[in-house]
Amino acid sequence: MVTDRCTGRCKHCSQGEHDGAGGCVDAEAVERAVREACGAFKITSLMAFGGEALLYPEAVCRILRAGADCGIPRIELITNGFFSRNADKIYAVTRMLAGSGLTGVLLSVDAFHQETIPLGPVKYFARRLCAEGIPVKLSPAWLGGPEGENPYNQRTRAILREFEDLGIPTGEGNTVFPAGSAVRYLGDYFSPAAPLSSPYDQDPRDIRAVTISPDGAVLGGNVLREGILDILERYKG
Ligand code: SF4
Repeated sequence: MVTDRCTGRCKHCSQGEHDGAGGCVDAEAVERAVREACGAFKITSLMAFGGEALLYPEAVCRILRAGADCGIPRIELITNGFFSRNADKIYAVTRMLAGSGLTGVLLSVDAFHQETIPLGPVKYFARRLCAEGIPVKLSPAWLGGPEGENPYNQRTRAILREFEDLGIPTGEGNTVFPAGSAVRYLGDYFSPAAPLSSPYDQDPRDIRAVTISPDGAVLGGNVLREGILDILERYKG
């Protein structure tokens, strides 16, 4: 998780309100952790996300490059696509991403993101990704699943149609779950019986993925102060 700072203020955000004060993860420490982990485990996937990770494109590219150099087959970025309104800056970032070893970008576009994120810069970013040959998929958040009939999903379908001229496929996306801001703003759409856990929660005794927080914390340790292998070794679940 490159940063918890974000350009969006989405009603469905499971992370809750972003105060805009968050900084960037220490890319050097994360690069070291990626290389160490790859030396000891068969790592199959590396993903950069936020907040909005591309507020710090140099850090994103450094981390992704490390994973690509270590032979990780899936190197992905999740982004809302809005980190600047400046076309030159967007161009420069997509050039940088093209050299990062990325194998795919998931672009979060839907009724929730587009309440606060303008579509123009996002579409330009998407067009530039295509021009650089970077595989990109639209990744919408659905309320009640993709089949759900509600005003948010109707608006999401209309937003996805705005990308048809670019020929970008739509991926599975995800279904909004009751956590963070979603509880506050969309509570009426969830049944009282809906689980409060995140679909991304793991069995703590059978960890398959780790997330390094922007402050370097991971599994009770911190990659700023110790090696990831020592942290994993110590982890008891
Ligand atoms: S859902 Fe994503 S883009 Fe929206 S506020 Fe949360 S982190 Fe930012």
